[in-house]
Amino acid sequence: MGWLFRKKPRVKKNTKRDVPDGLWTKCKSCQKPLIQEDLRANLYVCPECNYAYTMPAKERLESFLDKDSFEELDTKFVSTDPLNFKWGKDYTEKLSTAATKAQNLDAIRTGTGLLKGMPIQAGSFDFGFMGGSMGSVVGEKISKMFERSLENLQPAVLFSASGGARMQEGILSLMQMAKTCSWLEKMKKAGIPYISVLTHPTTGGVAASFSMLGDVNIAEPHALIGFAGPRVISQTIRQELPEGFQRSEFLLEHGMVDQIVDRKDIRDRVHHLLAILTKQHGSQDIHDIAPFK
Ligand SMILES: [Zn+2]
Repeated sequence: MGWLFRKKPRVKKNTKRDVPDGLWTKCKSCQKPLIQEDLRANLYVCPECNYAYTMPAKERLESFLDKDSFEELDTKFVSTDPLNFKWGKDYTEKLSTAATKAQNLDAIRTGTGLLKGMPIQAGSFDFGFMGGSMGSVVGEKISKMFERSLENLQPAVLFSASGGARMQEGILSLMQMAKTCSWLEKMKKAGIPYISVLTHPTTGGVAASFSMLGDVNIAEPHALIGFAGPRVISQTIRQELPEGFQRSEFLLEHGMVDQIVDRKDIRDRVHHLLAILTKQHGSQDIHDIAPFK
């Protein structure tokens, strides 16, 4: 019967890009020492090796928009555990633990703000909240954001970082894909621009819906972007996947994303694109924006 019992505990490889704790830390990628404050000041990107850590939604939006212009909306939405889901810990218990950890009631923040003086609707996933998973609250907040874009004729910008649909809400999570996309269809008909920024990791139902439907899809360097993970695909088709499969650079080469932009340059680039798309720019040609990486 010995084979039934695992002798060594399975060590899970840490692929998350959470920022390590402590005043001083060691970069997970280049192993060089880093001061936490420096890392924060550099938008959670290692100044030595350019490794981009996941960024909390609040800081992401505050640094992306004009100083003190971000006004968060729909802050009180919480999931009601419609399926009374129990697996290990109760879903309600998981939600409350995640809320304390991420200082947010669900996995996204949305609101309005100014981008170099231009009023826009903006949102960002909080990957620290249950892996940025999308349940009914996330879907509703994104839909409300697009609805406000339509009402106020303002462009929308959304930063994604998500493991996909949240299994604890079953089909209700999956229907958020159709719900959010139907708002995007209305925006498209009204000619209101939507820019999607894909950050590490953007996968599952989020990648399979609004994240890939931007008028321009921008990716951060080396981000994992795809529907199923590489391990699952490799095991299903029983083939080894090509080098860099599902990373931003590979997707750019194969036409799945339009541009790769460093985190520090995203604010300028998105503003430039929106200026063209809303015809507030001298040039009408989107390809005038050089250089494309
Ligand atoms: Zn580094």
